[in-house]
Amino acid sequence: MSNFDREWMYDRILEDGFINPRFIDGVENFIAFAKRHPQCLDSDKLRCPCNHRKCQNKNILDEFTIMSHLGNFGFVPDYYRWYHHGESYIPYPSMLDYHQATSLGETVKLGEDPNPTTQHLYDLLKASEQEIWAGNPHGHSQLSVVARLLNLKAEHHFSERLYDELCQLLSELMPTDNIMSDSFYSTKKLMRGLGLPVEKIDSCKNGCMIYWREDNELVNCKFCSHPQFKRSKHQRSKQKTTISYKKMCYFPLTPRLQRLYASDATTKHMRCHFEHERDGVMRHPSDSPSWKNFDQTYSCFASEVRNVRLGLSTDGFQPFGPLGQQYSSWPVIVTPYNLPPWMCMKDEYMFLSMIIPTCFYL
Ligand SMILES: [Zn+2]
Ligand SMILES: [Zn+2]
Repeated sequence: MSNFDREWMYDRILEDGFINPRFIDGVENFIAFAKRHPQCLDSDKLRCPCNHRKCQNKNILDEFTIMSHLGNFGFVPDYYRWYHHGESYIPYPSMLDYHQATSLGETVKLGEDPNPTTQHLYDLLKASEQEIWAGNPHGHSQLSVVARLLNLKAEHHFSERLYDELCQLLSELMPTDNIMSDSFYSTKKLMRGLGLPVEKIDSCKNGCMIYWREDNELVNCKFCSHPQFKRSKHQRSKQKTTISYKKMCYFPLTPRLQRLYASDATTKHMRCHFEHERDGVMRHPSDSPSWKNFDQTYSCFASEVRNVRLGLSTDGFQPFGPLGQQYSSWPVIVTPYNLPPWMCMKDEYMFLSMIIPTCFYL
């Protein structure tokens, strides 16, 4: 069914001010269609798709009220696919069930236990949520304390040594049964356990290629033949070291995206682009024509609401200030646009995808 066949939905009033008979027929067909789909009925009632602020597929009413609402207010904009009334433009039957169930406000258990990686994360989180000392008045956990300390370290640029000494001081101040992390090293180990890995990938000094996957075995750039590794300075022999000229940091995206789906707190927001209120005001990038155009062009991708849409941005900066002009770094930042705008702007939901060091020879 194309949008064209449902033009009548938004052609309610004729030029002479009367209701279009096509619209009345269409509404009757619509109600009949919805009633053939018992999974979207609430006893005899349906979601009202009229454009009244209180309805818009949220309010559940009987069919006669819905008909009069539709006559008075018309359909909520852009409701060409009747997914609240049993229709799918979703090719996957399991997702269809999911949408219908959630849109009726039922709690659906999709029936899967967490996979081993997620289970590992949950275990670690549980362990780190243990109180830093039993009965501390602010309910601080080991994780909350070290997260705070790491934040302070980053903000005030304090050294690892200061960090270690602070840990020791704090530990001395607490009752003896505390589980305060004792150094920067053990903090890093704890945080690494929470596991968002970083990969360092060697790259050509001139920026032609990275030594990755099938090129992993190479020792010279395949474009400019520059060697991958530095020569040892101290030995006279031409022996090579394993210190590469240049490295790129890569922050694998998949586990970070999986993380967004590992918690109830974020999962529901990942459907925001589809479920947020539409009232003709631009509230989310998904209200824009370009987003809608994308949905039409790639309808199969768009039909799965949980598919992740990413925005990518990058800009170069000079890590060593204006004096080190020959050095620059290019962080590539990826933002999931599924989230509500107020979350997209928070840095915990922006992923640093990679840092590409570049070198200019002046
Ligand atoms: Zn209504
Ligand atoms: Zn090269």
